[in-house]
Amino acid sequence: MTQLDIVQIPVLNDNYIYLAHEATSGATAVIDPAVAGPVLEAAASRGWTITHIINTHYHGDHTGGNLEIKEKTGCTIIGSRIESDRTPGIDQEVSDGDHIKIGNAPCIVFDVPGHTEGHIAFWFEESDALFCGDTLFALGCGRIFEGSPLEMWTSLSKLKVLPGSTKVFCAHEYTQANAKFALSVEPDNAALVARSKEIDEMRLKGIPTVPSTLAQELATNPFLRPDSEDLQRTIGMSGGAIVDVFAETRKRKNNF
Ligand code: ZN
Ligand code: FE
Repeated sequence: MTQLDIVQIPVLNDNYIYLAHEATSGATAVIDPAVAGPVLEAAASRGWTITHIINTHYHGDHTGGNLEIKEKTGCTIIGSRIESDRTPGIDQEVSDGDHIKIGNAPCIVFDVPGHTEGHIAFWFEESDALFCGDTLFALGCGRIFEGSPLEMWTSLSKLKVLPGSTKVFCAHEYTQANAKFALSVEPDNAALVARSKEIDEMRLKGIPTVPSTLAQELATNPFLRPDSEDLQRTIGMSGGAIVDVFAETRKRKNNF
């Protein structure tokens, strides 16, 4: 079992960058560096050398630090095959089912299109860690910019079946706003009501609400719960097809 030490670096308004350090080899990956400075400082202060960048998708708030970090460390940049032309400095293109390693830590890549056409996620099973970028958020999911609701639902369905203990390292602190929407579509979900209170308290103290666990998301995230009778009733779609309920929920969030 190769465990990663994971460090969370809040940057910009609401982005999270992560460092994942594999101690037996000394390898350190950066996940979705929006910027370079705080990442280089966080690594240096721990005596870690950045060996890899892994990008979940090409958006600037996930790749903006790529070139500077590569220039200063000579690291290898791993990103989506489908988005290789838009991923600055990419060295290694990956897609669904590919196995990569950060030092001795194995990782499986999933294609999770919807937010962007080539969005990917990285699952480090031995560390119970999922880096899912802008696909699955705490109590939310990414906006569908380049795909269909069916594609996004298919992507979320791939992540949904991972172990409940999986820590969901998403790329933004959107949880408090997501909770307000979630309560509007599932007001009687007791687990959601309780979680929402906890989130308010954490944000009041400036504590990150990320990572959550997949078990928490399954119990409270409306975008993983289109089969909820309560949710279906609230949006007037009792007995509706799952993907239609998902699409309507996503549409309502866009206008919330
Ligand atoms: Zn994005
Ligand atoms: Fe983003």
